[in-house]
Amino acid sequence: MSVIPGAWRRTAAGAGLLASDGTVVPTIFAEMSAAAARTGAINLGQGFPDEDGPAEVLDAARSAIASGANQYPPGRGIPDLLSAISEHQKRFYGLEVDPGSEVIVTAGATEALTASILALIDGPDDEVVVFEPYYDSYAAAVALAGAKLRTVPLRAPDFQPDLERLAAAVTDRTRIILVNDPHNPTGAVFDREVLTEIVRLADAHDALIVTDEVYEHLAFHAPHTPIATLPGAGPRTLTISSAGKTFSTTGWKIGWVHGPAALITAVLTVKQYLTYVNGSPLQPAVAVGLRLGDEYFTGAASALAAKHEILGAGLAAAGFSVFAPQGGYFTVADATAMGGSDAAAFCRTLPERAGVVAIPLTAFVSDEHREDVSGLVRFAACKRVDVLEEAARRLATSF
Ligand code: PMP
Ligand code: GLN
Repeated sequence: MSVIPGAWRRTAAGAGLLASDGTVVPTIFAEMSAAAARTGAINLGQGFPDEDGPAEVLDAARSAIASGANQYPPGRGIPDLLSAISEHQKRFYGLEVDPGSEVIVTAGATEALTASILALIDGPDDEVVVFEPYYDSYAAAVALAGAKLRTVPLRAPDFQPDLERLAAAVTDRTRIILVNDPHNPTGAVFDREVLTEIVRLADAHDALIVTDEVYEHLAFHAPHTPIATLPGAGPRTLTISSAGKTFSTTGWKIGWVHGPAALITAVLTVKQYLTYVNGSPLQPAVAVGLRLGDEYFTGAASALAAKHEILGAGLAAAGFSVFAPQGGYFTVADATAMGGSDAAAFCRTLPERAGVVAIPLTAFVSDEHREDVSGLVRFAACKRVDVLEEAARRLATSF
């Protein structure tokens, strides 16, 4: 007898979460970080910074521990952080969020996403429309919820969706349109006409919008536009973000989700029994971060943009075709001209060959679409300048 019940075993296997020998398939990020540790290669795979975030934020966490913020916080999050999230949404986007009823703190954006999907899916006929390539937890969460995944392709060079394909994917069966803007892995920032069309389609088919905006402060060319600010979007949108990217604290796992009170109540019913609460001393520290001056936020974006420049120049010198990102941690490059038309195989040999770890875009698509992204590789730019320069040097001399 297998210890994993049949229905879930089939679902997990179908979603690529369980290997045929019954072992758990590690995430591509964990696998690639292990490859970096094993080979000593520079890790441009998993997206985490190698420098600490703002001292004020780190100090606030230390003093919260010292002053005894070490027991369960309230289920929705500590009032000061709920207020800070509300103030942040007003200050940057003009969005009104009632801190008492329209926002909850979660264990990272990951829990906000999974709890939202679990809360909002009604049954096996419900569909979730995602843009593909997509962040790996999306398909897993949709599988957990027992719903169907419908994908809309994002293709090089600009990685914007084709509006006709988008319109064809959204139907009356669509329960959720799941947006990630700025986008991981492609670095795309959706054009306003794309956001407008998503809202129009959600309205026409009475679907909800769940939007993952963890890279909101890392948009390089224009201030970020939350889809919830578009006319008509607010009443049907859950907006998710996280402190991890904004304050270089990916290990803290402090995220949040805000939206109409009825939707937030639904998400809370799930969140309450997933983690209940998390990160008690980290919550006041994130509140300090969200209230930092504008220069912190613009500085973070421009520093990361400069890092992408260094990385992109190194990749181009090595022979890759580079798709300069508009936002986020990652640069995508095409390795086809360098014999990397099978990017998955290319990335397996890259640590030994060039001393660099990267992630093939095939890790972010469903099996039937692997061919569409077969030569594309994702490189993380959220590393120290000297590390990126060394990676660029290694890449330029290895092919
Ligand atoms: N969404 C996207 C697009 C991400 O890239 C990540 C992780 N980097 C997450 C969600 C997860 O965020 P968190 O670590 O806050 O759970
Ligand atoms: N979000 C990070 C990335 O895209 C990884 C997070 C994780 O390891 N699950 O690389």
